[in-house]
Amino acid sequence: MKLSAFGRKFTADAGITSLMDDLGNALASGDDMIMMGGGNPGQVPAIQERLTEVLGDITRDPEAMKRLVGIYDPPQGEKRFIASLAELLNREYGWGLTEDNIALTNGSQAAFFMLFNMFAGDFDDGSQKHILLPLAPEYIGYADAGIAPELFRAVQPEITFTGAHEFKYRVDFDAVDVTSDTGAICVSRPTNPTGNVVTDQEMERLESLARHHDVPLIVDGAYGTPFPSLLYVDAQPRWNEQIVLCLSLSKLGMPAARTGIVIAAPEIIRALSSINAIMNLATGSFGAMLAEPLVRSGEILSLSREVVCPFYHRKMENAVKVFTDAMGEGCRWYVHKPEGAMFLWFWFPDLPVSSLELYQRLKARGVLVVSGHYFFPGLAEDGWRHRHECIRVTYSQDDERVAEGLRRIASEVQAIWAEQ
Ligand code: PLP
Repeated sequence: MKLSAFGRKFTADAGITSLMDDLGNALASGDDMIMMGGGNPGQVPAIQERLTEVLGDITRDPEAMKRLVGIYDPPQGEKRFIASLAELLNREYGWGLTEDNIALTNGSQAAFFMLFNMFAGDFDDGSQKHILLPLAPEYIGYADAGIAPELFRAVQPEITFTGAHEFKYRVDFDAVDVTSDTGAICVSRPTNPTGNVVTDQEMERLESLARHHDVPLIVDGAYGTPFPSLLYVDAQPRWNEQIVLCLSLSKLGMPAARTGIVIAAPEIIRALSSINAIMNLATGSFGAMLAEPLVRSGEILSLSREVVCPFYHRKMENAVKVFTDAMGEGCRWYVHKPEGAMFLWFWFPDLPVSSLELYQRLKARGVLVVSGHYFFPGLAEDGWRHRHECIRVTYSQDDERVAEGLRRIASEVQAIWAEQ
């Protein structure tokens, strides 16, 4: 098979494809693997019940059924959902949105592909622009999303210690270099993989940098605010025309419905709709129709704050406690301050094996995690040891399994030190 540059780029081994393969193979192997590697959300009973009710209502209404499966939506996305969402966000936050400010995509992953390639890559004037990730580590799913090579520039973080076994990454603004070749700035909040929540002050500074250089600030709110609210610290939702806010229904409990939401200036929404029409013809209606009653009533916000957030918060606290108890005081370890999302990001300074070897050893012990080295897209390899000393551990699944997985991780790390 002869492939174009595009074909070669998107079939080459990418971090995200090997990760998804590994997860899929581990699941399919039938082994009793403890899955702490993926980004699957937990099953929140109140959300599932509410979605079952809505689906029942749709199936009993022939007109709604026709809209669910029988007609193409416009490329911008399902109109009623968009109208209800604009109304809800205006009511709640006074953002002054119209329907021209919102587009839906088949998962927010698809939105990032379109946005990154809209704002970075080759330009008519011969310049090549990049997407600036001001706070590495960042989401692995961005890493291979560029059609042009080397689409990302990332900035090493400042590390501050916030507890005996806890640290937090902060944006090192002295090192953030927005240039005429920066096409957009992008940050996930909360951050996958670390569970960091970029503070309101950091967000203000990033926004003013974006404004000053006249580039969009893309905020990936897949776990964030205003929904699904996997947030354990205060963080204000923010939007204005400088910001491209990307949301998703996935972490609310609907990853299979593949619904991403982009809130942006109308010209960005029009551009996204055009690309969407070419790539997908239309966006799937399923997620939008299922969630629309929750958006219209505002339940999407109340359920996020009162049900989804406490569900994950409790899991996070349990997970930290189990690991802390299992590690004791023998060796050096830190967890990133778990401020949101569904991951613990462990750092084992000076561990004699790399995070990739640790991942392999853990897999052999029946626990699947993700080696942290994947999460530094756009950061030049400069001998910074830290990037090979971290792992990402998902705590969204069954409490007992998560606890067992954490105990095995602790015991493996202790075994590695004991071998020295
Ligand atoms: N952004 C972040 C930070 C994520 O972790 C994910 C998925 O795990 C996505 C975006 C993409 O989510 P989806 O395409 O399901 O909306």
